[in-house]
Amino acid sequence: MPMTKISLIKCDDYNKVNNAVKEAVNLLGGVSAFIKPSEKILIKPNLLAPKDPSKAVTTHPEIVRAVIKLVKEVGAVPVVGDSPGGDVRDIKNLWKVTQMEKVCSEEKVELMSFEAAGSKKFDINDKNIRRVNFSNVALDCDGIISLPKLKTHTLMSFSAGIKNLYGLVPGLMKVEYHKYASKNKDFADLLTNIYLFFKSKIRFTLVDGILSMEGNGPSAGEVRKTDLIAASCDAAVLDAYLLDMLGYDISNSGILKNLKMTKSVFSTVEILGEKRGSFNLKEFKFPSVRKLDLFPKFIIRIFGKFLWIKAAVNEKICMRCMLCIRSCPAGAIRPGINQYPHVDAKKCISCFCCHEMCPHKAIIFKKSILAKIFMKDR
Ligand code: SF4
Ligand code: SF4
Repeated sequence: MPMTKISLIKCDDYNKVNNAVKEAVNLLGGVSAFIKPSEKILIKPNLLAPKDPSKAVTTHPEIVRAVIKLVKEVGAVPVVGDSPGGDVRDIKNLWKVTQMEKVCSEEKVELMSFEAAGSKKFDINDKNIRRVNFSNVALDCDGIISLPKLKTHTLMSFSAGIKNLYGLVPGLMKVEYHKYASKNKDFADLLTNIYLFFKSKIRFTLVDGILSMEGNGPSAGEVRKTDLIAASCDAAVLDAYLLDMLGYDISNSGILKNLKMTKSVFSTVEILGEKRGSFNLKEFKFPSVRKLDLFPKFIIRIFGKFLWIKAAVNEKICMRCMLCIRSCPAGAIRPGINQYPHVDAKKCISCFCCHEMCPHKAIIFKKSILAKIFMKDR
């Protein structure tokens, strides 16, 4: 059976990332094994929101710079781009704050707006959303190098290789699709189908886990220094391996279940570089809301109606920017009479897009009494 290579590199400082990235890719066979001269390669970081790189919400610009250099080394043409989450309208500000603009202008590489480049619709065989729009930037390039940030995710528990590809859907369509895929299982199906659509185009995935995010990610969690760079040509196997390293039972991942991936896949993995035990990943915190998904099915069947977690606004922190209103696929948030946004719990579909997009960590989770009781025990 052919082995899947995963390289693990320890790197404790973004100033040293150039060598670390190079080593990670060399261990997989070197960049020329994946990219041919003159090819147009999309480098796809995670640019979820306009956040400083130190906040661990977005892929660090020095990782992007190191990969740009590798792509240029083989005489290929790199372009950089991602579509931010929710209703982030000022893409230039996002590029500035995340330092993508600086890196791309210093390296003389085109930074692409997925929204401005347009999109095309494709049938991806998803039962909830038959046709999905993908950015022309992703469709027109010869290959993609995916550079996810290692983070937790309130709806999916985890965000790395496969979740990073959701950014290939431009603009507010991402929010729109959440309306039809608000539950973990449905969103896992959608992400799986997007991954399968682009799988053959992905040359390799390199995860930025030097500063990671634990807790209630992907934007409101806590930064954790994990000093890790991990790379592989197989994003799904890489995700499975990283999840296992973080102490998460991979049988609870809807995406990996869809791909029929169990722990037995690790017998076909060749780890290169550092040993997995040399990273500080102990007691990595996953989102508190994920626990509802781990309840036995019979409990959900019996108590489902009374087991819920909905979004709510913490008015003490809220800055009334109204981004949550524009990012809610269910139209469940409206300005209240006191000028603060108000969540209509009856309309809320618990997708947590608002939590993901709130720049001030002002979205909190309101639990039903039964959810509080059950979750306390776990
Ligand atoms: S909850 Fe967050 S996103 Fe919504 S208005 Fe307040 S600060 Fe803005
Ligand atoms: S209010 Fe509910 S439906 Fe709207 S974005 Fe937040 S979690 Fe999703």
